Amino acid sequence: ASREGVPAVRVEHLTFGYVPGTPVLHDLSLEIPQGAFFGIVGHTGSGKSTLLSLMLRYYAPERGRIEIHGEALAAIGNERFRAEVGLVPQDPFLLAASARENIDMGRGLPRARIEEAARAAHAHGFIAALEQGYDTPLGEGGSRLSTGQKQLIAIARALAGRPRILLLDEATSHIDSQTEQIVQQALDELRGKVTIIAIAHRLSTIRDADRIIVLNHGRIAETGSHEAL
Ligand code: ATP
Ligand code: MG
Repeated sequence: ASREGVPAVRVEHLTFGYVPGTPVLHDLSLEIPQGAFFGIVGHTGSGKSTLLSLMLRYYAPERGRIEIHGEALAAIGNERFRAEVGLVPQDPFLLAASARENIDMGRGLPRARIEEAARAAHAHGFIAALEQGYDTPLGEGGSRLSTGQKQLIAIARALAGRPRILLLDEATSHIDSQTEQIVQQALDELRGKVTIIAIAHRLSTIRDADRIIVLNHGRIAETGSHEAL
């Protein structure tokens, strides 16, 4: 349990580039309170996924720092970090296995925990309706499922680890308005239960976010509510 009032995520003067001297993120600073739902939008190439990659420690900042619950990112042990931060990637990988195995991902989680995560992700309804429920094979790469359903499986998979922070990188391709609506509803149900940082390709996906950050060429161009933007 971390101190009250400490933000879930604090980004301070973050600068990073994949190629030295060519920054993709420029002196970025932001604070995300515990339990908040933040959305990130911006044109393709504006640095949204890069910011998430740095929060996930895939890369080290060139300058500046990131803290999670008041602790420097670099100082957190791997196991604890994995338990604190859950990721729903832009292009989730589904196994040719059952719904249950796709949520469990080899962690050997209790059934009740898997179902709890599926319910929280809004995935329980469609899984329960499959002919063998949680034991139904989902096909190669989840071929039986719609894009939206795959995203919900990926959300359930991340939630099953009971993270305190959920990072979501919305799928770019084949996003239909039904998928977008499914993801939007799932995020709404999660608000307040976990700190959510969601990259969205449409403002409507994150219309209920507490705050929306607009990235433009690696800089924060605007922040505000959906109505304000
Ligand atoms: P999208 O909406 O298309 O997902 P994005 O906002 O997530 O875009 P990023 O993927 O963060 O954008 O990319 C920001 C910039 O960094 C782009 O110019 C991109 O070409 C570059 N970039 C991203 N990943 C890499 C990488 N692994 N190596 C080199 N350059 C990269
Ligand atoms: Mg991206």
